[in-house]
Amino acid sequence: MSIARRHLAVLVALPLALTGCASASGADDGTVDVMASFYPLQFVAEQVGGDRVSVRSLTPPGAEPHDVELSPAQVSRIDGADLVVYLSGFQAAVDEALAQTSPAHVVDAATDTTLRPEEHKDESADEHEDHDHGDVDPHFWLDPSRMPEVVEDVAATLTEIDPEGADTFAANAAALTEQFENLDATYATGLEQCDSRTFVTSHEAFGYLADRYGLHQVGISGLDPEAEPSPARLAAVEKIVRDEGVTTIFFETLVSPKVAETLAADLGVDTAVLDPIEGLADPDADYVTIARDNLDALRMALSCS
Ligand SMILES: [Zn+2]
Repeated sequence: MSIARRHLAVLVALPLALTGCASASGADDGTVDVMASFYPLQFVAEQVGGDRVSVRSLTPPGAEPHDVELSPAQVSRIDGADLVVYLSGFQAAVDEALAQTSPAHVVDAATDTTLRPEEHKDESADEHEDHDHGDVDPHFWLDPSRMPEVVEDVAATLTEIDPEGADTFAANAAALTEQFENLDATYATGLEQCDSRTFVTSHEAFGYLADRYGLHQVGISGLDPEAEPSPARLAAVEKIVRDEGVTTIFFETLVSPKVAETLAADLGVDTAVLDPIEGLADPDADYVTIARDNLDALRMALSCS
């Protein structure tokens, strides 16, 4: 930033600070300062806000978001943010930070969609009793038809914060909603005629996707990617793979593929990536490109025509 521009920013920021406007606490370039708790919500905030917002994620790029830990500096940035977009019940550290702070505006995606109850796997229930999800499955973002409600909430809240951006936010939200609707239609068509409807994943992130498109997800570990599957759970998965002629065991990008690879080798089946879109492993990818790759991988594994 040039010295002249820096002075301008100070001059612009000063009256806002004096009037106590929420934007005074935001980014010093005059944009709305948004903290998103993990990638899919960051994607929505960036797409809807465009260049009127500065979006940061509380989960570092390439990190697995379930068990994220926040530094004191991040907690204080939450406190100073114009808007925090998060999913309550998903990341305990973010829930705790929000309980201690008072950002100007908060969007909780859990209020925008009805979360499904967690499907307890009896054989492995002991293994993840201590995880953070409560009784619901957090992974709603893998059903693209559930995303437009979050888009609408983010657009409405950004409009409250920055009324001059109303038209921009509305246009961006409409374009993004159309992308999610297109994805939903592409999934529905692409997964209509398949030889198999059962897919095996490493952690149970794809329950919403399975519900939406009439598939059956079998997770090796539970909802928490760090949970170690029990021997009983592994035996149950092996039986399903044999009985249903499953050809592929999916693993994901941000978690070690070891368990999935060992199981696939034991059973003589393939492995492939199915990405729970919890964070970006590839900075050139985005929600839409990953969702399309996931559809291709599912269609291949399930022999869809
Ligand atoms: Zn997950």
